Amino acid sequence: MKTNYNRVWAEIDLDAVRSNMEQMKQNMAEGAEMAGVVKADGYGHGAVPIAKTIAPYVCMYAVATVEEGMILRRHGIEKPILILGVVHENQYAKVVSYDLDIAMFELRRAKLLSQEARRQGKTAGIHFAVDTGMSRIGFSVTEEAAKEAKKIAELDSIRVDGMFTHFARADEENKDAAKKQYEKFLQFCDMVRAQGILIPLLHCSNSAAILELQHIHMNMARAGISIYGMYPSDEMKHEPVHLTPVMELHSEISYVKMIGPGDSVSYGGTFTATEPMRVATIPVGYADGYPRGASGKADVLIRGKRARILGRVCMDQFMVDVTQIPEAEEGDEVILVGKDKTSGECISMEELAERSGGFHYELCCDVGKRVPRVYVQGGKIVGTKDYFDDRYSDFLTLE
Ligand SMILES: *Cc1c(COP(=O)(O)O)cnc(C)c1O
Repeated sequence: MKTNYNRVWAEIDLDAVRSNMEQMKQNMAEGAEMAGVVKADGYGHGAVPIAKTIAPYVCMYAVATVEEGMILRRHGIEKPILILGVVHENQYAKVVSYDLDIAMFELRRAKLLSQEARRQGKTAGIHFAVDTGMSRIGFSVTEEAAKEAKKIAELDSIRVDGMFTHFARADEENKDAAKKQYEKFLQFCDMVRAQGILIPLLHCSNSAAILELQHIHMNMARAGISIYGMYPSDEMKHEPVHLTPVMELHSEISYVKMIGPGDSVSYGGTFTATEPMRVATIPVGYADGYPRGASGKADVLIRGKRARILGRVCMDQFMVDVTQIPEAEEGDEVILVGKDKTSGECISMEELAERSGGFHYELCCDVGKRVPRVYVQGGKIVGTKDYFDDRYSDFLTLE
């Protein structure tokens, strides 16, 4: 895609997002809805455009922080938004005024939230978090915890909208651990019901469970990485839900030169040529979120062919071997992640993660604010975002 950018840009394919949602919808259990997880700025893809694109498929959204929830509200998103982690009580005023639901499992904090809601003349929505095996947050599955849940539910300005747990190992081929967690969650659901608390939404499934554990979708599942067209792990089957990658990373060659035997490339001189080589410089580095772990290991695509990284990835540039691509020249498009439509060659986020010793979830979240996002739909650019357009309000008098 021709854009107004040259150094680096991320192409976000909104048709792929739609296709992924459609694919998942086909696989959802009868009566189960989806929540769209758009935390970490939509896994680096841009939370607002992603949230708007998936709106027809989701009954609510989930984020990690209060600020992430506020951004969605400021962009006109009205469906429920759940904050999946613990929110500090200092932020309860914002939580209530922006109508954000939060994960809750402590009576002390619930009382503070209830007080704040009453002060604003509102009710505060919560989802009980239940720890069934992550040891991260949530009630332990005990009678005392169920009684604590009852006390929280009885607070006058608290509204219990849901209850959830999170799987540690649903992305593995063997689903025993996930099924055990599900059983534990059901047990807690029963215990809470026995306390006389009725909870509208029960949810435990992440993307992995959406894809492969249909019988435990309950009445909602939380779709995350699958929205963005990636499978949670390489143990996941790619059928019947076929996902299409959403993000591509593009750049252009900034310089091409010849080096000779004995010439080293990049910091530390970890690569030294033994014969004449053609070397292309790519104006992207780890400050853009391109992993330094890819040094000497990963490839990029130039003119549909693979070119290997030479030496270390620098903060803002790295070099690749184009000896076997004699037609490569300054200004050529470089695909760091994505598919070359002519040759069919493809470098996936998963491949880059594997080569760099990283994790595909992390790589897309790490795409930095120096990387503009270009939104594509129906073969056309429908929007862009320049994250680097920072505006400071407090430092204006600094000399
Ligand atoms: C991040 C997260 C998800 C989404 O997980 P994926 O593997 O990306 O689908 C769901 N639930 C909770 C609690 C999360 O923190």
